[in-house]
Amino acid sequence: MARITQLLDAGQTLSFEFSAPRDEVGADRLRQTLARLSRHRPQFMSVTYGAGGTTRGPTRDWVRTIRDHFQVEAMPHLTCVAHTRDEVAAIIKDYRSDGVDNILALRGDLPQGVESPGQAFDTAAELADFIRERTDWDIGVAAHPEGHPMAASVEADLSHQTRKLARADFAITQFGYRAEYYEQFVNQLDARGVQTPVIPGIMPPTNVAGIERMSALNATEFPEEIRERLEHAATAAERREIGVEVAVNLGRELLELGAPGVHIYTMNFSRAASEVASALGWPAD
Ligand code: FAD
Repeated sequence: MARITQLLDAGQTLSFEFSAPRDEVGADRLRQTLARLSRHRPQFMSVTYGAGGTTRGPTRDWVRTIRDHFQVEAMPHLTCVAHTRDEVAAIIKDYRSDGVDNILALRGDLPQGVESPGQAFDTAAELADFIRERTDWDIGVAAHPEGHPMAASVEADLSHQTRKLARADFAITQFGYRAEYYEQFVNQLDARGVQTPVIPGIMPPTNVAGIERMSALNATEFPEEIRERLEHAATAAERREIGVEVAVNLGRELLELGAPGVHIYTMNFSRAASEVASALGWPAD
């Protein structure tokens, strides 16, 4: 359908991220979410990939559903975790036959204490190279403006990210709540001669416990002022309103800074994502 680099060339993009649900109830909800969010005419949607290949089939199925049923460009995520070279080659072959044009190449995380002796690739960069040798797809990678939690040092992490992004067609960031971290990261890349488009990820903070857990895992700051506002909210509706307001203000700041687009982490729910998209200039038709 469309390459993400071409979509980015045409102007700032809106994209949404989903996860393949585990059961029929989740699948019904995701279909409703897709129906609602596709009305915002996002430039693309992406579908995550479960570590260990547990959602291998569903990721492919949902990518096809998004493209065929909702006529939106859909990008699968793919991780290194627990995969041999042959398995990755087979997945690439499947996606080629589906007409996929874009992919997000990731390392993924093995659960703590679990080892995967047969795993062929240790880093996203190695996976991206393997895909590049076999396809002419646009290849995206993950970016971590606040640093990766398992990095040996800030400098080693930045060097790695710089090398990885230099070879990628675009990157999507981990979610964060301070535009200045994004700005600083992009400036650091630029100073190192890397101008790969970096699309910031935005997660409307509507659930304190969830954001707290994920921020801790990703080593991203969950600003105290946002947490306090959410904790003082009396109802779920009030929390959603605060979450949307925070996400909209952040999105506006990022777009004004010249970000190539915004990527909204939906958690498979439509309401907050839809309100954020409308307020950022992508109303539903
Ligand atoms: P890599 O870039 O391979 O490495 C992560 C870090 O390890 C680097 O930043 C660096 O600090 C260090 N490192 C790696 N190689 C070197 C080196 N050679 N020298 C020095 N340091 C090095 N996970 C899933 O399981 N499924 C998904 O679908 C998924 N989607 C994601 C989408 C986005 C937009 C983002 C931001 C993350 C996603 N993740 C997903 C999570 C991701 O898998 C984790 O963040 C993982 O820990 C790192 O993945 P990566 O691709 O950035 O890894």
